[in-house]
Amino acid sequence: MEKHNFNAGPAILPRIAIENTAKAILDFNGLGMSILEISHRTKDFEAVLDEAVALFTELYNIPAGYKVLFLGGGASTQFAMVPFNLMEKKAAYLETGVWAKKAIKEAKLFGEVQVLGSSADKNFTYIPKGYTIPKDVDYFHITTNNTIYGTEIHTDYDCPVNLVADMSSDFLSRPVDVSKYALIYGGAQKNIGPAGVTVVIVREDILGKVTRILPTMLDYRTHIKEGSMFNTPPVLPIFTVKETLKWLKGIGGVKKIQEMNIAKAALLYNEIDRNKMFVGTAEKDSRSLMNICFVMNEQYAEKGDAFMEFAKGKGMVGLKGHRLVGGFRASTYNALPIESVQALVNCMQEFEKMN
Ligand SMILES: *Cc1c(COP(=O)(O)O)cnc(C)c1O
Repeated sequence: MEKHNFNAGPAILPRIAIENTAKAILDFNGLGMSILEISHRTKDFEAVLDEAVALFTELYNIPAGYKVLFLGGGASTQFAMVPFNLMEKKAAYLETGVWAKKAIKEAKLFGEVQVLGSSADKNFTYIPKGYTIPKDVDYFHITTNNTIYGTEIHTDYDCPVNLVADMSSDFLSRPVDVSKYALIYGGAQKNIGPAGVTVVIVREDILGKVTRILPTMLDYRTHIKEGSMFNTPPVLPIFTVKETLKWLKGIGGVKKIQEMNIAKAALLYNEIDRNKMFVGTAEKDSRSLMNICFVMNEQYAEKGDAFMEFAKGKGMVGLKGHRLVGGFRASTYNALPIESVQALVNCMQEFEKMN
C-alpha cells in the first residue's frame, strides 16, 4: 500500500534526493568508492559542500556579510552556542513552546533572560504579540515554527536588536528576508534533509563581541574560518541536504514551495473546520503551514483511537499528536505531495460518513 508520510521529524524527503543519496553510497562520482569511504578533504566532497552553501545562498537570497555553516550537534547545541557566542549580559526570548523553553533554559546558563511574551497560558496555541523589544538586550530569540503545537510566525519581524531565529521546522518553506536576522539556525531533519547536520546562517559582524573564553569547537568564528571543515563534517547528511536543495531549486525555489505549502495547509485546515468530528488546536492566525494539529471534537472524543486505526489502514503514517498536545499532527513539510493531504482529507470525510 502507498504510504502517506506525515512524520514530524525526521520526516519525508524528496524521492530524488533519497535515490541520489543511495547512488552516492554505492559509488560516488564514479570513483569506485562510496561517499562513506572517502576523505572529507577530497575535491569531490568539497564540491558537495560548496554546492550546498551556494544553493542555500541562492534559495534564500542571502546577502553579503553572512556565512552559511554546516555543523553537527543538532539545533539543541545551538540553544547553548547562541548565548555563548552572543550574550554578554542579557537576551530576550519569546516563549512559544517546548523548543523555545529549552533554548531559554540554556541561555539562562550564561546571563539574564527576559521572556517578552509567552503563550504558556493557553498551552502554546498562539504566537504572543503586543510586547516591546528592549534596546539593551544582546539579541531577541524566536522560534519561527513550533513543531509540537502547530503555530508559526509567518513574517520577518522588524527588530531593533539582533534577531535570532530557530527555523528548524520551517527552514526553506517560504521566502525569508535574511537581512532582518542576525543568526538563523535549524536542524536539517524536519524540512531540508536527514538528521545529523545543523545549518547556521550568521552575520559575521555580530561575532567576537563577548568577553568570555570560547572553546574552539563552540566558536562560530572557527567554523567560518575553516569553511565548516574545522573537524570532519557530517558528510552524508550534507550530501542529502544538497540534493534536497537541488530539488527545491528545480521545482521553482522558496516562492513556489510557499504557494504549494499554503495550498496543502488550506486543504487540510478547511476540512478540519468543515468536518464536525474534528477541531484544530492552534488559534487561526497562528496556524502553522508545516505542522497541522487537531483533535476530535468533544462529542466524538472516544472515537480518536478508531480514527487513528482507520487512517493507518489507508496508509497514513505519523499522525499521532505529540504527547503534550494529544490528538493528531499532520506534518506537511516541503516534500509532502498535496496528494497525501488529499488522501488524509478523504479519510476524514469517509470517517465522518461512517459515524
Ligand atoms: C526538532 C526541533 C529542535 C531540536 O532539534 P535537534 O536537531 O534534535 O536538536 C529544535 N527546534 C525546533 C523548532 C525543532 O522542531
